Amino acid sequence: MEQTKVVLADHEIPRQWYNIQADLPKPMSPPLHPGTGKPVGPDDLAPIFPMNLIEQEVSQERWIDIPGEVLDKYLLWRPSPLCRARNFEKLLDAPVKIYYKNEGTSPAGSHKPNTAIAQAYYNKAFGVKRLSTETGAGQWGSALAMACKMFGLECRVFMVRVSYEQKPYRRMMMNTWGAECIPSPSDRTESGRQVLAEHPDSPGSLGIAISEAVEDAVAGGKDSRYSLGSVLNHVLLHQTIIGLEAQKQFEKIGIYPDVVIGCAGGGSNFAGIALPYVRDKIHGKQVRVVGAEPTSCPTMTRGPFAYDFGDLAKKTPFLAMYTLGHNYVPAPIHAGGLRYHGMAPIVSHLLREGLIEATAYDQIETFEAGVQWARTEGFIPAPETNHAIAAVVAEARRAKEEGKERTILFNFSGHGMVDMAAYDAYLSGKLIPYQLPDEEIARALKAIEGFPKP
Ligand SMILES: *Cc1c(COP(=O)(O)O)cnc(C)c1O
Repeated sequence: MEQTKVVLADHEIPRQWYNIQADLPKPMSPPLHPGTGKPVGPDDLAPIFPMNLIEQEVSQERWIDIPGEVLDKYLLWRPSPLCRARNFEKLLDAPVKIYYKNEGTSPAGSHKPNTAIAQAYYNKAFGVKRLSTETGAGQWGSALAMACKMFGLECRVFMVRVSYEQKPYRRMMMNTWGAECIPSPSDRTESGRQVLAEHPDSPGSLGIAISEAVEDAVAGGKDSRYSLGSVLNHVLLHQTIIGLEAQKQFEKIGIYPDVVIGCAGGGSNFAGIALPYVRDKIHGKQVRVVGAEPTSCPTMTRGPFAYDFGDLAKKTPFLAMYTLGHNYVPAPIHAGGLRYHGMAPIVSHLLREGLIEATAYDQIETFEAGVQWARTEGFIPAPETNHAIAAVVAEARRAKEEGKERTILFNFSGHGMVDMAAYDAYLSGKLIPYQLPDEEIARALKAIEGFPKP
């Protein structure tokens, strides 16, 4: 009988992360200092991130050792299982084998602890005592809260106010792991006070929360730093453990996938499963790599590739990426983790170079796919993950039409047990389809007018 779950033993866990910068056929456009227009140097980032993570951000080394203390924590749930979705295959009735890497088995319920653990470790090693961050729906805040507690760091999370009030469970998780969770905008920072002065009832936004977290980290001086849960090179690096494990697992059963799929918000879980396969592709292997995003926030499928800011308050360097403009406020879809105006520079570069593909789905079709998954495979996926499952359904349909067999691998980025209100909205017919209007693309182009060109 063919294997349903491929599980690695503790001692088989990969000991290094993979840095794709060493293998890129064409180098990436560097981040630029908005004041000088010159590439940013490590010193520009030093007030915000610890130097050991800045070194990883700019590293050209192909393999980077995973510290023993990080591996010890990874082993609490890693290596994560690689599973065959036979019941879902049967439902789709197409000539496909579907495998998924289950990142929903982590303590916080998603892939995010893979980088939260690493970031907490490196900050601790650098002598930092407190981390500040922002969170939308709370997935990143809860992952970092857990990681900070494990390494004895204080953790302060600025959570978008509307989520703080409407989605209390992830705040409770943060509190359980000992973090302080503050609704944003708050009166703790200048940025927050400014917004409150103008809009006392502001529901908040990710852009405001980022500005508050960065300001709070910098105000804390040498003992405190900021932490980001996606987008940046070092975050994607930490997530490559997912794809590296998958490759080892597939080797055990003598299979190589034809298509690799992930959902993409800032791009970290997609890159995590995809980058080791993109490496093979660069070296001549036949494999397709597909990122799935929401039609309401179609960064890769409709945005321009341009230099833009990573946040609303323009506190970050210019990043070369697909973007809908730093002032874009995405529709309030339930996949909160995919509501980001930009895309990781590494993922953007690969798309521009034709090494990966992008596709977009409406939230209704993603929940359709997710509910079909839950009713066959059991696990209830996170709303973000449903985008990857919708892409799997589309691949299966194509395989059936073409009468061609294929093996699909996708990243099950997280479970949806804290997102049941979203399923309730879908099941009671209250979900609304969102397509980005064309005027929004014109607005995005206006937002980046006059910026340097990559
Ligand atoms: C945060 C999150 C995402 C989106 O973030 P990426 O950085 O694009 O991976 C996707 N799925 C889940 C379950 C998440 O929590």
